[in-house]
Amino acid sequence: MSHPRTTAASLADDLAAGRVTSVEVTQNHLDRIAEVDDRVHAFLQVDTEGALAEAAASDERRAAGRPLSALDGVPIAVKDVLATRGLPTTCGSKILEGWVPPYDATVVRKLREAGLPILGKTNMDEFAMGSSTEHSAYGPTHNPWDLDRIPGGSGGGSAAAVASYEAPLALGTDTGGSIRQPGAVTGTVGVKPTYGGVSRYGLVALANSLDQVGPVTRTVEDAALLHELIGGHDPLDSTSIDAPVGDLVGAVRAGQSGDLSGVRIGVVKELGGEGYQPGVLARFQESVDLMVGAGAEVVEVSCPSFVHALATYYLILPAEASSNLAKFDAMRYGLRVVPEGSPSAEEVMRATRDAGFGDEVKRRIILGTYALSSGYYDAYYGQAQKVRTLITRDFDAAFGQADVLVSPTAPTTAFKLGEKLDDPLAMYLNDLATIPANLAGVPGISVPSGLADEDGLPAGVQVLAPALADDRVYRVGAALEKLLTDQWGGPLLDRATGLES
Ligand code: GLN
Repeated sequence: MSHPRTTAASLADDLAAGRVTSVEVTQNHLDRIAEVDDRVHAFLQVDTEGALAEAAASDERRAAGRPLSALDGVPIAVKDVLATRGLPTTCGSKILEGWVPPYDATVVRKLREAGLPILGKTNMDEFAMGSSTEHSAYGPTHNPWDLDRIPGGSGGGSAAAVASYEAPLALGTDTGGSIRQPGAVTGTVGVKPTYGGVSRYGLVALANSLDQVGPVTRTVEDAALLHELIGGHDPLDSTSIDAPVGDLVGAVRAGQSGDLSGVRIGVVKELGGEGYQPGVLARFQESVDLMVGAGAEVVEVSCPSFVHALATYYLILPAEASSNLAKFDAMRYGLRVVPEGSPSAEEVMRATRDAGFGDEVKRRIILGTYALSSGYYDAYYGQAQKVRTLITRDFDAAFGQADVLVSPTAPTTAFKLGEKLDDPLAMYLNDLATIPANLAGVPGISVPSGLADEDGLPAGVQVLAPALADDRVYRVGAALEKLLTDQWGGPLLDRATGLES
């Protein structure tokens, strides 16, 4: 019962019924990490002692009949971009090596207040820049479906931890797709909540106007349970929305009936076709057909500005990132490289940033600094902000015709490690379908859509809803998950064989 394959929802039931203890469940996951993580490398830090201590405290609360939440005692992994008090937080970068935050991110505090033992910190592309986790300064994460392939990025560590049963739950962050795209290529579920729906306090910022924390799980129900726990207003985050999270688990229940009558599904014309793998498109079409069979009405919608989303994102993101990363100046955090002789502060800064940042981070700092420089600001950054508004308007118009929008989550299945590493543009193209949601702040989920190529690798379907209508992505996501799982005769992840040998 406490087998690591159990979902968070059933672990919660088992814990509540006294069938297992949190110490057993947590130890099982730590054992699984010990068994497979030298091959997967999902974790940068495993906090064995801390997790077991939290688990023991949880068991005491359960014994006293005072659990802190439904998920009290269910362990979780946390992406290394979220500040964890007393636990190193590196953002996958050498420049933060050895930094131990003196405080918890709000979402981490909420996990602790709800009694979830934290198993450790997961690997990621440096400062969340990337789609493959290969830009981590600590080496790549491997996809549990095929260890020679990427697990997506930037949150490949969280997705791989969940896909390889090292953790039932994980937290990720999604700035341009880093929760949803790893979900698609690892056969897991990932949710990017409405911008402002989950606190960003203590999330080391990549691009403040795009970043959002969200759940990484194996089922839509688990994502809803976690989302309800981390969501809600936070006075420490000035962009946090003062609105209730909503009944997301209720929305999942409604969806699990498999009935979608009355739901209008918009297929976005611009998110498909050229550049998408045929198998990915075929699985997507099957999902649409299943939803029609369940009573949904399908309409084709056009969002003409989406073709500019990638270019817009790669101006706004580097601009924000270059200014965020200016704080890594060798004085305040982590690494300090002091050149020989009696170097000036500027020379120390230069040497530290040169040694501490990887190539992709440097590339984006240069791009962003250029886009923000005087004389170019209006032509690049200003222009990008205008196009961003057009993209938001496209969403508004589309949501006038449909309750949710759907598309493939990522254009391809997991590619081979190293395949796109020397081609930044090819890497950026992975986020073609996910980026528009970040630019407009709307919520989205990625749900596995099936095996999409001759190597038997998974793909995902993305469901997007208007801002603050996160419940819709859960309802439709849960319905689709049910329809597909019934067809497969069990979870898709059961077919992942990368770790069997
Ligand atoms: N892959 C995208 C990028 O490199 C998205 C990153 C993210 O969502 N953190 O920017």
